[in-house]
Amino acid sequence: MTEKKFPLDKTALEKIAQKYPTPFYVYDEKAIIENVRRIKAAFSVFPSYKNHFAVKALPNPYILKILCAEGFGADCSSYPELLLAEMAGMKGEDIMLTSNETPASQYEAARKMGAVINLDDFTHIEFLEKTAGLPELISFRYNPGPLKEGNAIIGKPEESKYGFTREQLIKGYSLLKEKGVKRFALHTMVASNELSVPYHIETARMLFELAVEIKEKTGVRIEFVNLGGGVGIPYKPEQDAVDYQTLTGSIQKAYNEVIKGTGLDPLGIRTEWGRNITGPYGWLVARAIHKKEIYRKYIGLDACMADLMRPALYGAYHHITIPGKEAAPLTEVYDVVGSLCENNDKFAIQRSLPKIDTASENGTGDFVVIHDAGAHGRAMGFNYNGKLRCGELLLRQDGSIVQIRRPETTEDYFATLDLAGVKDFC
Ligand SMILES: *Cc1c(COP(=O)(O)O)cnc(C)c1O
Repeated sequence: MTEKKFPLDKTALEKIAQKYPTPFYVYDEKAIIENVRRIKAAFSVFPSYKNHFAVKALPNPYILKILCAEGFGADCSSYPELLLAEMAGMKGEDIMLTSNETPASQYEAARKMGAVINLDDFTHIEFLEKTAGLPELISFRYNPGPLKEGNAIIGKPEESKYGFTREQLIKGYSLLKEKGVKRFALHTMVASNELSVPYHIETARMLFELAVEIKEKTGVRIEFVNLGGGVGIPYKPEQDAVDYQTLTGSIQKAYNEVIKGTGLDPLGIRTEWGRNITGPYGWLVARAIHKKEIYRKYIGLDACMADLMRPALYGAYHHITIPGKEAAPLTEVYDVVGSLCENNDKFAIQRSLPKIDTASENGTGDFVVIHDAGAHGRAMGFNYNGKLRCGELLLRQDGSIVQIRRPETTEDYFATLDLAGVKDFC
């Protein structure tokens, strides 16, 4: 069971909304930092452990700065993400570039920054050599194919476009060695939003065993393994969070069994967790503006799937609470919907909730808080249907509120158009 908390009460929200009208995202700095420290404590058995926060989960430089101050690096997959990491003060090998179908210009940018380049394919060795040139340290992404089960969001490794096969890895490290590369790393990313601890332990063991095999077959010594992202969060109250101590305890056991006593010890451990770092500590706050009753009862919000598309995209569950009505009985069953002209724009379907008051009834309307939106939330937003994405607020440790991204305006929406050109056009 996971208690679904929200750090602000209705009165505090009313005050915030006077300055920053809904909808908005709000992130809890204190909770993020406490979570990061729990993770670091659990991994303290591996002194060189580092998490490279997956920038795509929450690409805001203020958040990245908080994480950088805690010793985290970044995992980037595009040029703008590399720039965000740099903006946050991250440097050199604290930044990883794990991308695929990568343009030469992106490799060049990563190389200039001294970021760790994680190659997605055997053919990219030569591509990198011919374009940006081979750096001293290179990482490969492994795709275990049929050797590892996938999960619902990421799919089966066998059907996934990412990474090297086992044979290609062996050939690849040998080739790098021939070409004079000095330092080597190994990466995989096989699951997304996976709550099963055994699954993640198995991934670590798989990489440990592979590092041993690589050493035996090629003489290449892997410096660190990167277990990727994909640790799940309990979106549903009846789910439990991954216990970090249990996880690292078992990873250590696998390490002792597979790596200790080989020439690979000490082997560095890295992760590129995104979702479980910030996900539970971000909320989308909207207001109920309309209510309608046809074949079902609907509550219409001032936010829509352009602000948070996980429910529409994956049928994902996001818990909903109504500030001021936390203890109220769940007497109603609603579809809670946004304004997009797509019928899958529903934050919740047939959800039991307290009776919700709307702006059309009482002028303001209840706040509707959508939980676990701190990762892959605002970041996946879009402008389809002329929707302007909402802004982001940060609840600081001292209780103050800072706007860390303003809401979009119509000017932003039109910014890529040459409007003068339109005027003179036929
Ligand atoms: C998305 C992604 C991550 C982060 O995944 P989470 O589920 O947010 O932990 C890490 N690494 C790679 C390569 C990714 O594509």
